[in-house]
Amino acid sequence: MLHIIWTAAPKRILWELFSVCVGCGIDLVYTLFFLRFIIACMEQEVAFSVIVFCITGYFAASAAADCCNVYLRQVVVPQTDVLIQSKLMDLIYQQALRVDLSCYENPEFYDTYTQANEEILTRTTEILSTMSFLISLVISMFGFGTAVLIYEPFILPFLIAAMLIVRTVQKRFVDARFTRRKKTVKERRKMDYVKRVVYLQDYAKDLRLTNIFAPVLENFHSAAESSRTVSKKYGKRAGIYRICSSMVSSLTVFLGIQGIIIYRYLVLQKYSFGVLTTVLNAASALDSCLSDMIWAGARLNENGVFIENFREFLAYQPKMTEKEDGMIPKNGAHDLELKEVSFSYEGSKNPVLQHINIKIPAGQKIALVGHNGAGKSTLVKILMRLYDASEGEVLLDGVNIKEYRAKEYRSLFGTIFQDFKVFAATVTENVLLRPVREKGDQEKVKEALKESGIYEKIQHLPRGMNSILTKEFDEDGILMSGGESQKLAIARVFAKDSSIAILDEPSSALDPISEYEVFENMMKACKGKTVIFVSHRLSSATLADRVYLLENGMIIEEGSHQELMEQHGKYAEMFLKQAEKYREEETA
Ligand code: ADP
Ligand code: MG
Repeated sequence: MLHIIWTAAPKRILWELFSVCVGCGIDLVYTLFFLRFIIACMEQEVAFSVIVFCITGYFAASAAADCCNVYLRQVVVPQTDVLIQSKLMDLIYQQALRVDLSCYENPEFYDTYTQANEEILTRTTEILSTMSFLISLVISMFGFGTAVLIYEPFILPFLIAAMLIVRTVQKRFVDARFTRRKKTVKERRKMDYVKRVVYLQDYAKDLRLTNIFAPVLENFHSAAESSRTVSKKYGKRAGIYRICSSMVSSLTVFLGIQGIIIYRYLVLQKYSFGVLTTVLNAASALDSCLSDMIWAGARLNENGVFIENFREFLAYQPKMTEKEDGMIPKNGAHDLELKEVSFSYEGSKNPVLQHINIKIPAGQKIALVGHNGAGKSTLVKILMRLYDASEGEVLLDGVNIKEYRAKEYRSLFGTIFQDFKVFAATVTENVLLRPVREKGDQEKVKEALKESGIYEKIQHLPRGMNSILTKEFDEDGILMSGGESQKLAIARVFAKDSSIAILDEPSSALDPISEYEVFENMMKACKGKTVIFVSHRLSSATLADRVYLLENGMIIEEGSHQELMEQHGKYAEMFLKQAEKYREEETA
């Protein structure tokens, strides 16, 4: 963690070190030398002006050290916090993009991930402050310890005994706090969920129109209640241990150590008054250093758990093997083939796809049809290697797709998913799905928008294609309707020079006629390219060279629209039923 902080903001570490050393140094000088020096001056009747001069000097140095600290806290920390946070977030984001898609369906992984995300900044700051604290403790212990050893080694055994007792009690205190935290993790996660539901726009409509918030809120209250019960139980326990430990600490310091020192000063007259102040101060300072050391250890431990979590997240190796030196697909058209492909999602036994065999020669137009839940989207995800098939293989130009570099392989596809997202960026960027780089980009986007039938609307916006979508960052941001967003998403495929286009029901919010038109445009625009489109509306399937009908993860019928109609099977039945329905709607 320190290494990461160092690469992000070395200034921060240097300042922390400097400030801590200066602060500690001033403290040590005061306790060990300055007080004694001033007393000695007074005893030897040194001129008053000299004493005033020394005191002024000391206070000037102390003020300078304070200034250092204030500068660190008020100027350096806020600046470097941002730098460190950006660096850490970069690491997290890069890793988040790298991990398997299936990780997002794994609650354990999700916990690690969200925790890494949420706690990262507070933890780093804490790690830094614990580090400075530890350094100051080590310096102080060295200084005070030397003083005690020189003047009064006799009290060392007492100090150590006191420390051991305090340590035992404090360990229990720390354990109680730990258990409390651990036992409330689940509750905190539940409460966080409610926070997200209220906060995110995605839920706002449903929350207003329905009563769904009642059970959600109920969940929140019960989580809060059980968290309170746990906190109360362990809080009391922690409180008792805390009181015990400070009592032991005070007793040993006041009665034991200070008593011994004063006895040796008054009765045995072992040392001067000046030395007495030094020894008294050093002994109690050493005592508090020792118990602080235990605290710092506990804090280090707690942060260690977090760092471990963070490291685990960063070290996660995607199960989907990426060949660094894999092949790069050749330019031009490609043949695709699925051979005996079966697939189940992680953690579920039921196969979503079974023994799928599909051959897609370059340039062919394919329609995947079937009811909701038949496995169409899953098939698309496997084709794009977002998941690896559990059995069987996917071949590109006769080579297993695992032999290719995943990034290069995926770049062959222009895809729109059913649940595509509109980003808080300009229309142009939303269509290109990358920053505007080349000269022809604007023109390309314009053409794509025209082909998907949304250019008219965009053109009339005050800032045209440079309008920002969503109101996330811009008050004048544009909110599009479902159908309009889909047309925008479809423009993405038109704008991308990919050799294979995949449309996974991007048109479900469009009426059947618009959908047909969009697909028709797509066929025209993608002449020579492979097109795979998924739909549960069969009217669009008439445009395809070949249709595959999926049911329960299996292909039950395949052939051209004509052939399937002549078979009078399930496809023909579904087609006629849907056509009937549209005809009824039209007459109505
Ligand atoms: P379609 O696109 O044909 O409507 P899908 O491929 O999305 O169907 O889903 C097929 C089946 O797989 C469904 O029964 C669905 O519940 C299940 N499924 C989809 N995604 C996941 C997932 N991430 N984890 C587990 N099961 C899933
Ligand atoms: Mg789907």
